[in-house]
Amino acid sequence: MALSNIGVKKRYKVGIPRALHYYRYYPFWKKLLEELDAEIVLSPPTNKKIVEEGVTHGFGELCIPVKIYYGQVLKLVEANPDLDFIFVPRYVSEVPESYFCPKFLSLPDVIKILPIPKILNFEVNVKDFPISTSAIELGKQLGKGQNASLDAYNKAQTYFDDYHRFLREGGSVNHALRLVQRSLPFKLPKKKVQGDIRFLLLGHAYNIFDTFINLDFIKKLHNQGVEVLTIENLPEYLFKKPVIVNPRGGILRNYWRHEEEIMQAIRFFLTKGRNEIDGVIFLISFACGPDSLISELIMRDMKVVGLPFLEIIMDEHSGEAGMMTRIESFVEMVRRKRKKLGLEPRWKSKINFYEAT
Ligand code: SF4
Repeated sequence: MALSNIGVKKRYKVGIPRALHYYRYYPFWKKLLEELDAEIVLSPPTNKKIVEEGVTHGFGELCIPVKIYYGQVLKLVEANPDLDFIFVPRYVSEVPESYFCPKFLSLPDVIKILPIPKILNFEVNVKDFPISTSAIELGKQLGKGQNASLDAYNKAQTYFDDYHRFLREGGSVNHALRLVQRSLPFKLPKKKVQGDIRFLLLGHAYNIFDTFINLDFIKKLHNQGVEVLTIENLPEYLFKKPVIVNPRGGILRNYWRHEEEIMQAIRFFLTKGRNEIDGVIFLISFACGPDSLISELIMRDMKVVGLPFLEIIMDEHSGEAGMMTRIESFVEMVRRKRKKLGLEPRWKSKINFYEAT
């Protein structure tokens, strides 16, 4: 397959579905695969047809992000019949203390129910082996030796660190991903969105940054004069200490990787950062067990500190009018509260994350 008749290796064509962990790891994957000499083909942004296809092939109780993944895989394969591989990583654990949701653990297995080309395997499971080992295994499937794979891994990790630094400087994930796709340098847009109130928007990256399924939620907030922070914009040190949930004296650690990050972020805004935001919105997918559990915990904490909190549950039936009504009434309520307290508009103040203590 990889050898032409003059003995020159052709580049492997690898398809990446634009769904799930694409919104979290694409810069790393792209750099790693390109350094391993693969040609990358990305599926298009989510649209109605992709969602319908995903819903048809995903069984009833699945959350919408996984159904979209199915739809994206089908679209990718239909539009690119000459793919050598489809990249379906298995994310088990990224840090030793927690796991990803089981949907990510089983993704390469369940996706085989679809008519797809060979899967390019990449397993991240730091509880059992370092990610560099996964990169070597990935390289083998693409015909690369250990040194070339380790070199590719180091370059991908450096690039991914730059990407995160850019997000912490205020870059938005979708803007940064567009730069990554075009292989452009990370550069903040000239015009900064300014609002008189500021919200922390919580949720999995695939819920927050897939603008089709969330009905362009961030843009709706911007149009209402709201500044938006997501956890990608927050400094690294906030995510160093584990969150201990303490129900009636017991000690409970968070089991899920991303939910732990959400709890770590919120801990700052419940304490030192209380005055840096005016409210919190949590975008959740219908049928998501991990998110519905922590949403309850966050809601209780919000009540204690008097921070407005809105939970929005999305699925394939979410409608524009209902979403708009909820956003507008929440924004209005927060704005009145700020006015009553005589606070100046947010654009006059720079957010202060303090230094790690
Ligand atoms: S964390 Fe929730 S939304 Fe994400 S894949 Fe798992 S069940 Fe679906």
